[in-house]
Amino acid sequence: MCYQVVERFAACYCLYHKHSIDPCSAYGQRGHLVQEKTVLVGHACPAHSSY
Ligand SMILES: [Zn+2]
Ligand SMILES: [Zn+2]
Repeated sequence: MCYQVVERFAACYCLYHKHSIDPCSAYGQRGHLVQEKTVLVGHACPAHSSY
């Protein structure tokens, strides 16, 4: 299974950074899915951080 690390803000769950896909040997085959791996970063994005 291929993995793609997606970093999200822990406070509001907005997208922080989407990494490139880490492909396995079956990458690109029909019906093959890329598993998203969510990593939370411990703060809010600029739009949702109140100060
Ligand atoms: Zn794969
Ligand atoms: Zn946000």
